[in-house]
This record gives sequence, C-alpha cells and structure tokens, in this order.
Amino acid sequence: MSAQLQENISKAESYLARFKENTLGHYINGEWTLGSGETFDNTTPFDQSYLGKVAAASEEDVNAACEAAAAAAAGWAATPGAERRKILHRLGDELEKRAEEIAMVESMDCGQALRFMRQAAVRGAANFRFFADQAPEARNGLSLHQAEHTNFTVRSPIGPVAVITPWNTPFMLSTWKIAPALASGCTVVHKPAELSPLTASILAECAEAAGLPKGVWNMVNGFGTVAGKALTQHPAIKAVALVGDSATGKLIQAQTAQTLKRLHLELGGKNPVIVFDDADFDRALDAVVFMIYSLNGQRCTSSSRLLIQSGIKDKFLAALKARVENIKVGHPLDPETEVGPLVHTGHYDKVTSYFEIAKQDGATIAVGGKSLRDEMGPGNFVTPTLFVDAKNTMRIAQEEIFGPVLTAIEFETEEEAVQLANETVYGLAGYIWTSNTGRAMRMAHAVEAGMLWVNSENNRNLPSPFGGVKMSGIGRDGGDWSFDFYMETKNVCIAHDTHKVPVLGR
Ligand code: NAD
Repeated sequence: MSAQLQENISKAESYLARFKENTLGHYINGEWTLGSGETFDNTTPFDQSYLGKVAAASEEDVNAACEAAAAAAAGWAATPGAERRKILHRLGDELEKRAEEIAMVESMDCGQALRFMRQAAVRGAANFRFFADQAPEARNGLSLHQAEHTNFTVRSPIGPVAVITPWNTPFMLSTWKIAPALASGCTVVHKPAELSPLTASILAECAEAAGLPKGVWNMVNGFGTVAGKALTQHPAIKAVALVGDSATGKLIQAQTAQTLKRLHLELGGKNPVIVFDDADFDRALDAVVFMIYSLNGQRCTSSSRLLIQSGIKDKFLAALKARVENIKVGHPLDPETEVGPLVHTGHYDKVTSYFEIAKQDGATIAVGGKSLRDEMGPGNFVTPTLFVDAKNTMRIAQEEIFGPVLTAIEFETEEEAVQLANETVYGLAGYIWTSNTGRAMRMAHAVEAGMLWVNSENNRNLPSPFGGVKMSGIGRDGGDWSFDFYMETKNVCIAHDTHKVPVLGR
C-alpha cells in the first residue's frame, strides 16, 4: 500500500467516524431529527463494511418536511434576489472549505475513485455561484406589444419543490437541482438515494452554516417506496425534479397525477459514441475510453454503445482492447485508481449478469467479463469489460447496464450509423467523431438525443440545456431552463384605454 493511500484511508476514517457513531437523521425545519421511522445500515462497496445507521423517513416525517417547506415558502420567495445571491455564495464557500471531506466521504459511500470525486465540492460550489448570480434577475420577463394593449410577463417561484436524486455522483447531481430551485425562491425537500446518503447531510450542514432560514432546505433520508412516494404525493409540493431510472420516472408520473405536479425527469440512457473512419483516431480513442470507464461507468451520459465504422474497426478495437486491459481497478481512495467498486451488491449482481447475457446473445467478450471478488475481496469489484461482435438488437446493446462495460457494434455507412444510434428507447446523449463538418452537421440533426457532442467527450456548460428525449426524460436543466422549471410565468395585459370594450345587455 502506498503512503498516499494509507494517508487517505486514515483521513477518510476520521471523516466517517461520526456516521458510525451516530444514526444519520433528517434535516427538517432547521433541526436534525431521527424522525419516527425505522433505521437501515449503510455499508461501503469497497469491502461491505459498516458505515453507519441511517433513519428511513416515515410518511409522517415526510409530511413534516413538506409542511416546513410550505411554511417557509412565502418568506423565502419575498427575500430579495440580492440577499438570496449572498446566502448562496456563502453556501459555495462552505462547500469549498469542506471539499476534501466531501470527496473522501463520497468515494467510500459510492465506490467512486477519488481522482474524480476531488472536484465534486468545487463543481457543486460553482453550481451554487452560477445560479446565485442570476437570482436578482430571475423574476424578469418580457414586454409584448399589441396596438391597443401591452402585455408583460413576470415570473414567481412555483413554491415548495421535491428534489429526488440517485446514487451515482449524488453530491454533484443534488447541487444541479437545489441551486436553481433556491435561486428561484423555491423552498426544497431533498430526498437523496438510500444507497448513498452521506454527502447529502454534509450539503444540508453547509446550507445551515450559510444561514438559510429554517424550513427553506429540508432533507429526508429513506426509501423510494415510502419516503419518495409520500413526497411526490404531498399536496404542498408543486413540482418534482427526479434524477433516476426510467422505471422510477414512470412511477412518479403516476404518483403525481392526482395532485397534478410539474415534473422534470432526468432518466436512463444507452448513449452511442459514433466513430467514423475519418475521425482523429487518438482523440476519439481517449474519449471512448473516458466516457465509459470513468466514474465506474455509473454515469447517465456514459457512452455505453460504440458504433465503429468498418474501415478503422480492427485497428480501433485493437487499440481500445489494449487500453481497457490496462485500466487500474482498485481502492477508491488510491490516487492511482481509475475504476472502483460498484455502488452496491444488488447493482454488482445486475452488472455481472450481463457477462452471461453477452455470451447468450452471441457477442464476444474481448476484455474482462469477470468479477474480481476472488482477487480483491468482498467489495463490488468487476473487470472493465469490452464486448465486440455485437448487434444493436442484443440486450447488451439495448439495456442500460450502468457499469464499466462497453458494447462495440460495426457499421458501414452514415445512414446505418444514424439508424443504429436511434434504434433504442433512450435518447439522452450522443457523441460523434468525424473530421467531415457536413457529416457532423447532418448527424447532429439526425441523432435522437437531448445532447450531442461532436469531437468531444462530455463537456458541461452551465448555461446550456441538459436533459433527454424518449425514455431518457422530460425537461431540461441549465441556465434559464432551470428557472423556467422552478418558476411560474404570469402574463399581465394592460389596455391603453383606446379599444372598444364589447357591450352586452345595455
Ligand atoms: P432510482 O430510480 O432507483 O432512484 C433514484 C431516486 O428515486 C432515489 O432517491 C430513490 O429512492 C427514488 N425513488 C425510487 N422509487 C421511487 C418512487 N416510487 N417514488 C419516489 N421516489 C422514488 O435510480 P438509481 O438506481 O438511484 O440511479 C441510477 C439511474 O439514474 C440510472 O438509470 C441513471 O441513468 C439515472 N441517471 C440519470 C441522469 C440524467 O441526467 N438523465 C443522471 C444520473 C443518473
């Protein structure tokens, strides 16, 4: 074990000690509480060892959080944008102060390699700062003219909102939602994923330290079927922002029907990376490897289907195979580690089941396709895996595996590439590698996805829209798209007193 890893482990242990000693509760109306529900054990995917107990919110606890958010709504909505801006910048400062702690706790709770988590708090803080700066102008609207009337629009916060987040990069994803909600003037009830609850509590502590008024930010731990369901059904909640599985999105659409809530659903994907013969070979290779094997492949925008043109197929797959064989799997806190353990044994079982499915489908396992439990102990370690000789109709090409597993499919023509890219129920992201600008433009229009990158890996720009089409979701995050979701637009029409008012019954 390197000295650096040893040092990281002892630092992480000191950050994690309080979670082992005290049950992690909920943050409701400015108070930490264990609520009235049961508790459950949280473990680390590194070796399944105990990280601590977590309170699972009951319906009663969720109701208390929603009522606190409702009671605080008018006051927060009336807080001047400049004041909200100041508080959210302070929150950014708090996150930056605790960056190392957030990175280490997130790594041990989720199994993500520290090299990727190091930026989690910094990027989270950047999200708060970006939306904070827009808070003073968030209510601005349009002026729309007619001959005898002038219309103007104003925006106001929609009210208390629910933010429900998944276990993959949970810290970052939570900040994407909560930052614009608060900047808009909405109060929030956040329910983090039951499989990775720890950093959401640090986030709530930072909000408290930044001076958010009580009830503006509430956080409940617990399960989707109880806490999540009660949250989506509560009448005080006006909108639900979910990041999660497509199946959960469907459930939430049904659960919210009776109270008719606004929904933003960011769901699953089976994203194609399309590499043409004329692509910059080395840059495309780097991006293909990065976009499926970083973050353990547990990333909604991961390019899990490689569509490779026949002219470079053999050379590209040979180079890819060498790179995948060389990926370093290891302790999430080891600075050398590129792939860590999968988040949970249930997810490990799902990912490893595809090694058998690939064989049944008739694909070839070019690299990996194995559990690493014999070599690396009880953690959820698997080999980075590459399937070749695959067809787009196979399950390994159609289903979201959500692990460090890539399926490569050959194509001949541009038309075939478009057809293969679109033959999926999903439509989150796509990546196109070509040196032909006309082709890049044609592909950009033809591929069905909410986001496309040309000659790039996933590059996030906060003012740009983020979200998917088809089964990958409804709605967009980012820039003014976020404000539109968290705010209602009202039109006010004012007459110039020159038009003829219709007369009845005179
Ligand atoms: P999940 O859908 O199982 O859980 C997400 C959250 O929903 C959790 O907090 C869970 O407790 C809650 N939940 C579950 N059932 C619920 C219900 N009936 N009512 C209310 N809440 C409920 O997802 P996961 O397994 O935690 O995360 C992985 C999934 O998230 C993948 O499919 C991935 O693609 C997707 N994801 C999408 C994006 C995106 O931007 N499109 C980003 C990250 C992850």
